[in-house]
Amino acid sequence: MTPDELRNLFANLKVWHARGWRAPNKPLLALWAIGRCLRNEGRLASYDTVARELGELLRRFGPPRKSVNPDLPFWHLRNDGVWDIPESDRITQTGSGHDHIASLRREGARGGLPRYIFSVLRKDRATALDIAYSLVEAHFPGTLHDDVLRAVGIDSGVPISAGMDFGLMEGRAAGMEFEHVQRRSRNPVFARTVLDAYGDRCAVCAFAVRLHDAPVALDAAHIRWHRAGGRDRDKIGNGLALCTLHHRLFDAGAFTLSPKYTVVVSPVAAGPGTDSSLGQFSRRPILLPRRTEDYPDFKSLRWHHREVFGPVVEGTDY
Ligand SMILES: [Zn+2]
Repeated sequence: MTPDELRNLFANLKVWHARGWRAPNKPLLALWAIGRCLRNEGRLASYDTVARELGELLRRFGPPRKSVNPDLPFWHLRNDGVWDIPESDRITQTGSGHDHIASLRREGARGGLPRYIFSVLRKDRATALDIAYSLVEAHFPGTLHDDVLRAVGIDSGVPISAGMDFGLMEGRAAGMEFEHVQRRSRNPVFARTVLDAYGDRCAVCAFAVRLHDAPVALDAAHIRWHRAGGRDRDKIGNGLALCTLHHRLFDAGAFTLSPKYTVVVSPVAAGPGTDSSLGQFSRRPILLPRRTEDYPDFKSLRWHHREVFGPVVEGTDY
């Protein structure tokens, strides 16, 4: 199998998709497995080890859901040709083709990269890193790349290629909806338009440092991630000018905006700095654009609340 064929396999993971719901379970499991390979750890791990470690990744980087189900990608990633469960023949399944977790445990099921992929990637570390970077780039916004890679034990010292972005194209196969991740270019004028609308300052903290008369450390954030189909063409309602700190905190779900455009801080945000970076802005209105048609749109805010922020907090009923 050539490096390009391997890249294609991982680039074409079939991910369940409906109305912008995020499902990063398979990409996170694939990243977890590549991380093990790059750290020279064993190819296979027990179901309980995978469930514990993947569960932690899903809680940190997956959409906020009532429960995480690491058994689903553990069982179904096999269909994408990048996962192996040597004991799969002995696992009993439900009528709909899912695994029985009790059966995975009883049979001592182990999972990991297929033997031939594992041995190629262990020798060809450049391709392994390339695939890991592509996965993280396809499924997470740039502000989270380093955190995701670090969490799966991959050193992200090498920069990820910039300038291109991924978007989603919906497809249908066998009656189910899948998303196919494809490269999609960003709108080059989006950033400039958003920063102009917000007067070149962070909507949360008013940060507006300039160097040589140009703003620095100020981003045009997508409220609904560009990777999750967030728009950046017709209107700027999906944009928000944020300093780099607030951009990262927003993409990580540490805060969101209420329908009255006030800052809503996550109840799980804690630690030194929480107050100075978030607490002091809690319940305060953001600095809105001059024109009302440029205000953050509720559709994008609703997506951010459901797919990134999570907890139902008073005053966030859009
Ligand atoms: Zn800020």
